[in-house]
Amino acid sequence: MEKIITRFPPSPTGYLHVGGARTALFNWLYARHMKGKFILRIEDTDIERSTRESVDAILEALEWIGIDWDEGPYFQSQRFDVYKKYAQKLLDSGQAYYCTCSREQLENMRKKAMEVGGKPKYDGTCRGKELSKTDDSVIRFKAPLVGTTVVEDVIKGNIVFQNSELDDFIIQRGDGTPTYNFAVVVDDITMGINTVIRGDDHVNNTPKQIMLFKAFGCPLPTFGHVPMVLGCDRTRLSKRHGAMSVTAYRDMGFLPDALINYLVRLGWSYGDQEFFSKDELIEKFSLENIGRSAGIFNMEKLLALNADHIKATPPGKLARHLLPFLRERNLNAEEGPYIESIIETLATRSKTLQEMAEGAMFYFQEEIEYEETAAKKFLTPSVLEPLNLLLMELNSLEHLSEKNLENAFIKIMEQTGLKLGKIAQPVRVALTGKTVSPGIFEMIHALGKKRTQARLKRAVEFITGQSDL
Ligand code: GLU
Repeated sequence: MEKIITRFPPSPTGYLHVGGARTALFNWLYARHMKGKFILRIEDTDIERSTRESVDAILEALEWIGIDWDEGPYFQSQRFDVYKKYAQKLLDSGQAYYCTCSREQLENMRKKAMEVGGKPKYDGTCRGKELSKTDDSVIRFKAPLVGTTVVEDVIKGNIVFQNSELDDFIIQRGDGTPTYNFAVVVDDITMGINTVIRGDDHVNNTPKQIMLFKAFGCPLPTFGHVPMVLGCDRTRLSKRHGAMSVTAYRDMGFLPDALINYLVRLGWSYGDQEFFSKDELIEKFSLENIGRSAGIFNMEKLLALNADHIKATPPGKLARHLLPFLRERNLNAEEGPYIESIIETLATRSKTLQEMAEGAMFYFQEEIEYEETAAKKFLTPSVLEPLNLLLMELNSLEHLSEKNLENAFIKIMEQTGLKLGKIAQPVRVALTGKTVSPGIFEMIHALGKKRTQARLKRAVEFITGQSDL
């Protein structure tokens, strides 16, 4: 079978948004699944609106979600000579012609068409004239006048266009630059693209592109047009619905694998399965299971999936994702066993890395600040005895395992006659400053003996200091 070659061709006129990322993912997954090739192409022929910053932002976002490319990025702006060569081919074979119609003439054509209620179309004035090139002549494609052009779409089925609805569209402007549809087709041909998956906002471009493929005598790629992503009110996803850019989700504390899992599931299914690792997506992805109806972006679902991915990610790997969020909070954190054991206590309690970083703060603070109400309620002289007993018990403990800590607490309960809650809650406030935290045993395990004892001692001093007043 022919090697599958897909592409992602963003226009660099802004950041990579979630809809674009989903299109990129579909093409990337299909190429990876089929052991084919994935090409990145930057469609920057619109020089006015394309910027280097947007290119960089798109590349950064693709790298963050883990999409890699086998070829490219190619830049259309550097390929004008290729497009010219291909336009010449169509001129040579009589399938394109120079047109010198003035702006005024075109405007009149438009008006006339409107008067009779038709679509504004080029009327073919220069079609039969065999004009030579002039300074500002454009090149038009000699489109078929009758018959139909059928888009055989693997997602939507056949879509039939009447050729009479289309006109002799421009393929090269007066200044020598290619038009959008022409550049796309020349690129897809020269880059060997045989599978085109893109948003269904491009459906109307496809018949023109098909005509060009045929004019060049080239086989058509497989086309698939993916329904748009919608917001919760079923209108096309936009800023009104919340963050659109992929990197905004990174900054909110989503894991790249969770975001790709969510975006892929938004338009593709595999039975009822919701959770997929990246490798599983590659293994199971198929074009047949891309849905025909629009996906609705749901933040709650994305959060739930992110929580599941946080739970499923090994602490060492999670640490690398979490560190920037800790550093943002001026915490002196680094890779290693401490952060991994901290993560173990927080992984089941955090929906995002922001939340996890927030929850991890107390682990890194040398001097815990006690919440006022927590301190008032729980750091009272009556807890000095259990706190001191725990300090002693910890001295004799070799390993801070769950079992050992549980036994130590049972011992203290017996010695003091206090219930677990009466001991655990003051200990919690002593260790974290708060009344809500991860489980007491796992937390002590993560903090380690030295830190735990230092915090308990400080609480004892705090209580003694208070009661001396
Ligand atoms: N450059 C187009 C866009 O950003 C993609 C066109 C295509 O996939 O053919 O929407």
